[in-house]
Amino acid sequence: MRYVVFLVILLAVGVIYAVTRLMSTRKLNNGNSLKNNVIPLDAHRRARKNTNEQPCSSCKKKNGKLMFYAQDDGSVVGLCRDCQAKAKKRDMLPL
Ligand SMILES: [Zn+2]
Repeated sequence: MRYVVFLVILLAVGVIYAVTRLMSTRKLNNGNSLKNNVIPLDAHRRARKNTNEQPCSSCKKKNGKLMFYAQDDGSVVGLCRDCQAKAKKRDMLPL
């Protein structure tokens, strides 16, 4: 008889575990806004990796390492050392 009680408890724990897992995965699926925030960050990280191969967004020269700045419209530009001075004058935010 004790064995049956143990089995029932085990079953109940299993069901609770399954339900909580299901709920947590549902929460993840609903967090689309969170996912959308992650994607541009990821792209930005990838862009940073290739800074030495990317031409400057302003003068289009491959001028070594680029610094990334956020523009007023929310877009990101990679600027070489020469163009960084111009960006600072325009009050652009470095990323
Ligand atoms: Zn430049």
